[in-house]
Amino acid sequence: MRAMILETIGAPLRLTERPDPIPSLGEIRLRVEACAVCRTDLHVVDGDLPDPKLPIVPGHEIVGIVDAVGEGVDPDRLGRRVGVPWLGHTCGVCLFCRTGAENLCDRPLFTGYSRDGGFSSVVVADAAFGFDLDPDADPVSLAPLLCAGLIGWRCLKKAGDGKKIGLYGFGAAAHIVAQISIWQRRDVYAFTSPDDSNAQAFARDLGAKWAGSSDEPPPVELDAAIIFAPVGKLVPAALKAVRKGGRVVCGGIHMSDIPSMPYAVLWGERQLMSVANLTRADGDEFFPIARAAGVRTHTTAYRLDEANEALSDLRYGRINGAAVLVP
Ligand SMILES: [Zn+2]
Ligand SMILES: [Zn+2]
Repeated sequence: MRAMILETIGAPLRLTERPDPIPSLGEIRLRVEACAVCRTDLHVVDGDLPDPKLPIVPGHEIVGIVDAVGEGVDPDRLGRRVGVPWLGHTCGVCLFCRTGAENLCDRPLFTGYSRDGGFSSVVVADAAFGFDLDPDADPVSLAPLLCAGLIGWRCLKKAGDGKKIGLYGFGAAAHIVAQISIWQRRDVYAFTSPDDSNAQAFARDLGAKWAGSSDEPPPVELDAAIIFAPVGKLVPAALKAVRKGGRVVCGGIHMSDIPSMPYAVLWGERQLMSVANLTRADGDEFFPIARAAGVRTHTTAYRLDEANEALSDLRYGRINGAAVLVP
């Protein structure tokens, strides 16, 4: 197999050849068809997240075909198309696993962070955490659903039922959440970096009611806002933009420090919360909804050996939608 590996925090990924891994008990092996690139991959490469397995193959939005199964796995899964998300394994016995909150598991494994991920031609995954995907869909289009879509969906659920939804940072997750929100007959207000007219036009093309800079107020009070950009100063901005009783959901795994803010911006029973990881139940809900809503992801494809270019384009905001590696 070929894989792009991270050996040292901050270093470019390096293309390597390795023998194909053999799936162990409860595992499946996939021939990777596509793997999308997520901002979390940048956080892994930059060392923003503690104690990654090193060397590591990043990538946790994997679409592939099962070509081998380990002991204990239904051989019917051979030849199926499966998606592997960020949540790669949970302990099954901690308080959180036992109470329907496996996203908060005390002893989890995360794909592309604590177990090898999909920036490779072959990957091994825990069979119980892979989602069966539509065999007739385009694998490149499906890949961003595995994190941008899934985490975005969890954020949207946590945001509540309000009609007017603000999305801060209009990248891969927001462009999917916007489509689902509009399908749910909500109004989307998209906030981008100041003067990112390209992303604002992209949001309007997808049906956003309004798109503007994150340092300007929206034209109406919002019912809820989701912050996807890893920028702490957006927290007080979003709290100011939501109505009394409104909610602000932070969707990223890492964010710069939140600046000090007057209590008045939280007052009025506004709520601030984060979303961490995903549960398998989120996926069971989300994939049918994405299909029903007719979500169309916007992707830019890169070869596997172009992973560093893809990460760099994501870092500097040069991508509308999602970057996807195609081995
Ligand atoms: Zn657990
Ligand atoms: Zn991700």
